[in-house]
Amino acid sequence: MEYNTPEQLYKAFTDASRNRSRELGHFRTAWKDPQTHSILDRAKKSSEESSDLSAALQVQQYGWTEEYLQEAKQAGVIQVRGTNTGVDGGDAEEEDGTATVNDFKQAHPSWQVERDESSNNITISFRIPTLTMTFVVSRELDAAGYLLRILGANPWSSAINRCLASRPRQHNLAYTLEMVAAYSSGRTNPCAACGKLADGSSDWLMPSARRSKAGKNEGSVKGMIWEPFHEKCL
Ligand SMILES: [Zn+2]
Repeated sequence: MEYNTPEQLYKAFTDASRNRSRELGHFRTAWKDPQTHSILDRAKKSSEESSDLSAALQVQQYGWTEEYLQEAKQAGVIQVRGTNTGVDGGDAEEEDGTATVNDFKQAHPSWQVERDESSNNITISFRIPTLTMTFVVSRELDAAGYLLRILGANPWSSAINRCLASRPRQHNLAYTLEMVAAYSSGRTNPCAACGKLADGSSDWLMPSARRSKAGKNEGSVKGMIWEPFHEKCL
């Protein structure tokens, strides 16, 4: 930039100084913010527990907000232009997911699907050969999404719970319920990645994860195809 007069140069200099000073002010405010401190405290505590950051390299760097908004819109958690878009972008759905749960009940009439009125937890129970599987879907206040876990204390249910915790689309109730349903295929389907039934560990674990790929109805939760995976093959 050229300056024709000393006044122009002086003005450019003072404007730049003022802007930097303002930015510094914003930074100072953000730095003193309790939210910033809670994040820093958490990061410090976490790095004290384990300084291994290699897992972070597998997390995508961009698109978190967009993904969250997309999921939240689909799950009816947030409203778009005053109307709910519903689970599949179709029919309107209540914010608490009642319609989604009722749909799920109708699709699986022989399963036990119950919603506790006080806690709002959804318990789903069904039998596969030699075993009854019971899952609980819960949503805690301010939580980022739905919590999904299987009841039981054995190596397979522990592995399933780890796989459920890392599942995608945790804000989408319909997707969460469909993942539960995917476990009704039982324990006799081999892993889609390695083609084996047992994972080769000393516990001989069957595929403990279910992951979806888009089916015929592109984008629809109900048309998805679910495949079994070992935890180590995810
Ligand atoms: Zn495998």
